[in-house]
Amino acid sequence: MKLFYRKHYRIIKPAATGVLSLILVGLILLSPEFQRLFAKTADAAQTEETVAQTSSEASAGGVSDADQTADSAEDAASGDSGTAGSETETVQQDNAQMLAGEDSWMLALINRDHPLDASYTPASLTQIDDSHSVDSRIADALLKMLNDASAQGLDMYVISGYRSYDYQTQLFNDGVSQRMGQGLTEAEAYSETARNVAVPGTSEHASGLAVDIVSAGYTQLDEGQARTAEQQWLMEHCWEYGFILRYPEGTEEITGIVYEPWHYRYVGAETAKEITEQNVTLEEYLGQNRS
Ligand SMILES: [Zn+2]
Repeated sequence: MKLFYRKHYRIIKPAATGVLSLILVGLILLSPEFQRLFAKTADAAQTEETVAQTSSEASAGGVSDADQTADSAEDAASGDSGTAGSETETVQQDNAQMLAGEDSWMLALINRDHPLDASYTPASLTQIDDSHSVDSRIADALLKMLNDASAQGLDMYVISGYRSYDYQTQLFNDGVSQRMGQGLTEAEAYSETARNVAVPGTSEHASGLAVDIVSAGYTQLDEGQARTAEQQWLMEHCWEYGFILRYPEGTEEITGIVYEPWHYRYVGAETAKEITEQNVTLEEYLGQNRS
């Protein structure tokens, strides 16, 4: 045996080492400790993927769209898709923090480049009529504006105030479905809807600081609204109450939203006066042009 061993030493030793290694690896793989660790890693990977998928679906309003693809391509081209993601996250937190704060809450900028965290809800909402509410901090100013208008013999009402993220998502998806029903492709329907309905996460209505007001005699949300006596009065006087017409005519390139002669945003009396005097959009006022 000894002789045999010595004779075949060079073959037996590596073979034995190999077998031993295999047994060792087998034991490690079978050990509960390792299996637990492995299971944890697999879990984490899946969760991250699910989160990523959910958030990209959420920002797209549940539809796949040309814009998102374009964004990703841009990110890939500039090689910083990671940074882009975390920047958006920071902006979202900043917006929510700003709105929840005490000082400059009324100056929060919410648009496609500055989305608002989906989880944000105003700390306090005030019901201004049977079916609409706004952030309590703007309720007095809004009601005073509506009452003063009414005292002038004007007849108007709020058709949209605070909107939850979920409701905005529903509105957006309805818009896409409707346009696809009219024969547009999904990508076309998405970008056409995005011109008219804020992409979920980018609507000022989620902040509770914006309202849509229409003339009782003309309730269409189109440019005809601008010709009503009610809108003419609002456009002239809203700044006195701390409001601005948020998406004025000819500013789509800057705001990303078409002319909306019914959407008013509270920014506070001082800022509303300055914005009106300077005849600029909120983006320009804050030095945050989209382009
Ligand atoms: Zn609106």
